Amino acid sequence: MTASDHPLLGGLLVGRPPGESPLCHVRQVPARPLTTDDWPSWVPAELQAALAAGGVDSPWPHQVQAAEHAWAGESVVIATGTASGKSLAYQLPMLSAVLTEDRARVLYLAPTKALAADQLRSVSSLGLAGVRAATLDGDTPQEERDWVRQHANVVLSNPDMLHRTVLPQHARWASFFRRLRFVVIDECHHYRGMFGSHVSLVLRRLRRLCAAYGSSPVFVLASATSADPGASASRLVGLPVATVDEDFAPRGERTVALWEPPLTASRGENSAPVRRAAGSEAARLLADLVIAGARTLVFVRSRRGAELTALTAKRHLVEAGAGELSPRVAAYRAGFLAEERRALERSLSSGELLGVATTNALELGVDITGLDAVVLAGYPGTLASLWQQAGRAGRRGKDALVVFVARDDPLDTYLVHHPESIFARPVEATVTDPTNPYVLGPQLCCAAYEDALTEADVALFGGADAEPVLVELVERGLLRRRPTGWYWTDRERPTADIRGGGGQPVAVVDTPSGSLLGTVDAATAPATVYPGAVYLHQGRSFVVDQLDLEHGSALVHPEEPDWTTSAREITDIAVVRTLRTELLNGVSVHFGSVQVSNQVVSYQRRRFSGEILDETPLDMPVSELVTKAVWYTLDELLVADTGLELVDLPGALHAAEHAAIGLLPLFATCDRWDIGGVSTAQHADTGRPTVFVYDGHPGGAGFAAHGHSVLPDWLTATLSAIEACECRGGCPSCVQSPKCGNGNNPLDKDGATVVLRLVLAALGGRPTPNTNRPSATCPAGC
Ligand SMILES: [Zn+2]
Ligand SMILES: [Zn+2]
Repeated sequence: MTASDHPLLGGLLVGRPPGESPLCHVRQVPARPLTTDDWPSWVPAELQAALAAGGVDSPWPHQVQAAEHAWAGESVVIATGTASGKSLAYQLPMLSAVLTEDRARVLYLAPTKALAADQLRSVSSLGLAGVRAATLDGDTPQEERDWVRQHANVVLSNPDMLHRTVLPQHARWASFFRRLRFVVIDECHHYRGMFGSHVSLVLRRLRRLCAAYGSSPVFVLASATSADPGASASRLVGLPVATVDEDFAPRGERTVALWEPPLTASRGENSAPVRRAAGSEAARLLADLVIAGARTLVFVRSRRGAELTALTAKRHLVEAGAGELSPRVAAYRAGFLAEERRALERSLSSGELLGVATTNALELGVDITGLDAVVLAGYPGTLASLWQQAGRAGRRGKDALVVFVARDDPLDTYLVHHPESIFARPVEATVTDPTNPYVLGPQLCCAAYEDALTEADVALFGGADAEPVLVELVERGLLRRRPTGWYWTDRERPTADIRGGGGQPVAVVDTPSGSLLGTVDAATAPATVYPGAVYLHQGRSFVVDQLDLEHGSALVHPEEPDWTTSAREITDIAVVRTLRTELLNGVSVHFGSVQVSNQVVSYQRRRFSGEILDETPLDMPVSELVTKAVWYTLDELLVADTGLELVDLPGALHAAEHAAIGLLPLFATCDRWDIGGVSTAQHADTGRPTVFVYDGHPGGAGFAAHGHSVLPDWLTATLSAIEACECRGGCPSCVQSPKCGNGNNPLDKDGATVVLRLVLAALGGRPTPNTNRPSATCPAGC
């Protein structure tokens, strides 16, 4: 089938000027037929009956496999796609346990309160008399907390609550811990980076206390599809974990189109060409799909973007003489209130609404599937999210359409020109590093406060990695070493901010309402909440009025301006300790600890079209960060042999660095703001031309380490992204970076490919042949 044969896709291509086809690739994802399995024999009849009454007549095989592992006492992770019924897989063992064993207790943990509330609704709707389920979160009043602790047999909570309230008061929860049979960790792919590393240690604290009270609960984890989910889950809970990742959920056929908006006449920084914004392109597609009668969901980055997309689509409808359809297009800007989410589900499924533009936040807790079309305006950050969003499309027996519209950045460019990176690549690994000393330190203090740490506990908390941290905590007077173990010395409880990256967090306060929106790390505050910054919170837009680093506050007000802001920073880096080194032919590759000094110097305002409005200088303190980095160096003689002039080397290294930072999220679940880079033609510590990429979190969150482990693949992808871009001298789709402190200067796009080829040749990788437009060979014939 060619693109123009597809009923919906063909319509989208009508009226495009010849030679300007945005379609890079089309792929059909076949339907999967229905297969079912029998209920496990241990599932009580009343649970089967309740599930059948709710419409589940028989389970799918992956649900049964996961449930059987759990029931047999083996911790297990189920990692399957959207709408694959993962909740049934953990509900079977957890509800069977409380129905058949009088005293059994179950703990369910979700990354957000809203999800725990959804799970409560789902469990309560079964109407099972023996199940006493209740949520426990920051909003639960004290009297109710007492009831939950004493009577609930299914407690639905979150890791923050476990960390702050339940574990420090474990004696009050003694009988709950003693009877704990299952711990369910839902949406466990959310636990990544620094936050994930903290959660992994909170779970070790939970396991240690359970053991002290005589229980050894089985962990049941549910994850979006991810690379090697068993290894990630096992690192998260610190136990061997069985894996169930073959998805048997039935689904309709899907056509996925990769779409790159054309370059426009506008000019950006250093006169670089700018592509039509993904949001404008998506609005046009939305209008066309609505005219074709397709129920469509568009995913964009911010609420403001969602509104603009819906408004622009309505304007297109009027212009196309289909103004009567305009009331059936809306932006979904409601927050996380359950009623609002249910109302949206109803209007989309009844067809009252035909087109909805929404933020990525919709991923969680909304039950919308079976749509005719899904449009993704920009890569949602991970392949796992991409498939989760795409999974909203597809009705049984009907072909659904998914269009991925590339944003103007190197990662999106790479993806639309490398269909295999979407269709044949395993989704990213969920990276955590429970051995990070900046995470271990506060967590060991919390653990010691809960109960003195023994020699045996040290193994649970990382063994050899924990020992130097304990020595340091003793030296700092926080812990005391006695023959029986390590003791917390203070009367006060230790604190650890598990969602922050260390340091005193900065509170973001909405001045008009006085409400606390959230916190940002002290280390990243100068780059995220500087005066003038547009700050997005759960899709809502605010503008920062004042940042007070000394007292840890940022004052903001709600405002939805027509621009975005990005901080410019200058960075210096020094090697502290090299942990791994590879000396190759004129190229060396390293991994180790570095000290990064960073200063935010200005910010830029950009229109949604990419056009730069202005740049405003900022006076921010220099911040110091000790973290992990991966770096490579080149021999100047080797460079000279390639014909690259030495004067062009700084621009070549700089461009290679930018693009590499843009591409690392292809391999690990980070985004380009989690990492940073430095490149220089002569670095003081290496004495050679060097490119560094470092973790933006104290101690490292595992991203640079992962980058080091996949270096050949990562740099191959970087090279391909640069080569796939048809711009001449570099643009935001390839080597320009929105956070460059040097105003994207100097940048040498061609030089970057020379540098990358040199490194790849030395690494023994095989650089792809120099094809300037891979889409020329696209099977869709564009
Ligand atoms: Zn470019
Ligand atoms: Zn730069």
